Amino acid sequence: MTTTAPTTVPAQGAEEIQDAGHVDVLIVGAGVSGIGAAHHLRDQFPDRTLVILDAQDNRGGTWWTHRYPGVRSDSDLFTYGYRFKPWRGPSIAAGGEILAYLDEVIDEDDLGHHIRYRHRVTAASWSTEDRRWTGEVTRGDTGQRLRFTTGFLWMCQGYYNHAKPYRPQWEGMDRFQGVVVHPQRWPEDLDLAGKRVVVIGSGATAATLIPAIAGKAEHVTMLQRSPSYYFAPPTTNELAVTLRGLDTPEEWTHEILRRQYIAQYDWLARTSLDTPDELHAFLIESMRPLLPEGIDIDKHFTPRYRPWQQRIAIIPDGDLFAALREGKASIVTDTIEAFTEHGIKVSSGEEIPADIVVTATGFNLSVFGDIAFTVDGEPVDFTGRVTWRGIMISGLPNMVYTFGYFRYSWTLRVDLVSDLVGRLLAQLQDKGATMVVPALRPEDADMKLRPWSDPENFNAGYVMRSQHILYKQGDREPWTHMHEHEQEREILPKVDLDDGTLVYR
Ligand SMILES: Cc1cc2nc3c(=O)[nH]c(=O)nc-3n(C[C@H](O)[C@H](O)[C@H](O)COP(=O)(O)OP(=O)(O)OC[C@H]3O[C@@H](n4cnc5c(N)ncnc54)[C@H](O)[C@@H]3O)c2cc1C
Repeated sequence: MTTTAPTTVPAQGAEEIQDAGHVDVLIVGAGVSGIGAAHHLRDQFPDRTLVILDAQDNRGGTWWTHRYPGVRSDSDLFTYGYRFKPWRGPSIAAGGEILAYLDEVIDEDDLGHHIRYRHRVTAASWSTEDRRWTGEVTRGDTGQRLRFTTGFLWMCQGYYNHAKPYRPQWEGMDRFQGVVVHPQRWPEDLDLAGKRVVVIGSGATAATLIPAIAGKAEHVTMLQRSPSYYFAPPTTNELAVTLRGLDTPEEWTHEILRRQYIAQYDWLARTSLDTPDELHAFLIESMRPLLPEGIDIDKHFTPRYRPWQQRIAIIPDGDLFAALREGKASIVTDTIEAFTEHGIKVSSGEEIPADIVVTATGFNLSVFGDIAFTVDGEPVDFTGRVTWRGIMISGLPNMVYTFGYFRYSWTLRVDLVSDLVGRLLAQLQDKGATMVVPALRPEDADMKLRPWSDPENFNAGYVMRSQHILYKQGDREPWTHMHEHEQEREILPKVDLDDGTLVYR
């Protein structure tokens, strides 16, 4: 693979487009996945040239986008942190602490000068003849258009649109006299003092935000259409406190705590499939003593789906329940009929007064960063493509993607996928090949295609709203994804890269 210094080349078309140079590997996204990918690449292939492009004006992806009050992880940071960098804080971390951890990785690996912020990739075209991808980029600050070329594209773009959050339209929103905000775009100067706030939603974001603002606003009402599962572990892990008290090296504490949490996730994932009723009962019963006396648990806290068909929201130290007990927050389970001038009217006829409405209603899913892909001049329609182990896409050469877990910490998969990509790059080098592409074998030709996510398995709203624009999975290995970490940590390190499903040229 070659490297050229960036040069300015006059565009050949009507529009001015600058040549920004060639790199061996181009990573899209400077979130947890992109920074992890870059670490592993620097570690295993220090001589390869690299650039990381991100549309936002800073690092962190999700943790930069979401800066609403109280924003925090839902996972423990021993497994949400990388395998290679010990987590030194409490088990559940604030968004700012995660950003600080990512900053340390960027510094320690000297990644800063590889990252280009405000660079949105709009198109990516593969040329088999040139054995390279060309990425078209628009700069968010200057509007300038750039062209990067790369031998290998590593997509770490996450799964949702960072610029456009999902907000349903309700009747009467235009006559509402108060303020409507989305947590994805929280106004820094929003004054909550003396305000009646309604938070629409029941997921992790609503559950995090409400206790954080409950003391500041006059009152907060959580308005949910239907309940979600909650679990209230302590913020601090006793084992971590003990190990640190014994002056145990942080690397050991990190590894021991990872094993402890992974064992818990394994148990949760298995129980949710094998004995979902037991897990359901366990989750409800563990919440019961923390809830206000006399509250209707069946109506407000008993989900209608199986545990883990959507993420279980973590309530560290039960802070949401404390806000409810103390009367600073209350909960309404009903459907919205319409916004009124001064609040929200629900189906029961009740009108909930509001000065501020927070729509914690989730994301718009985005497929590969909404980039227009072409392969040898042909536009790529992802809906007809199949995943190769949730890491590559059929017919797309030299393109890998990092997508984490929903049920375990996302980052556990970042490390595993990076290991496999490292093996793949080494394999290309050993074979003297310049191109690798997943291709269905003759025996896969009539394979039954299945949706990206089987609703029986995982059916979060943002996934179900967008299944029709997503790529597919097949009915056999290696054309599947959405395995649990328990299986993948065994399968992925042993993947045979010469099983006939990857074509090298
Ligand atoms: C509030 C919140 C809390 C969460 N908590 C947890 C948790 O505790 N545990 C867990 O496992 N998961 C959690 N998640 C899921 C979370 O998204 C993942 O854990 C993880 O942060 C995803 O990282 P990523 O780098 O893959 O993607 P992202 O964080 O989404 O970052 C992707 C980056 O790519 C950039 N990008 C996308 N498209 C383009 C393009 N075309 N051109 C240039 N740049 C582009 C984006 O600007 C963004 O900065 C949470 C999600 C949210 C919203």
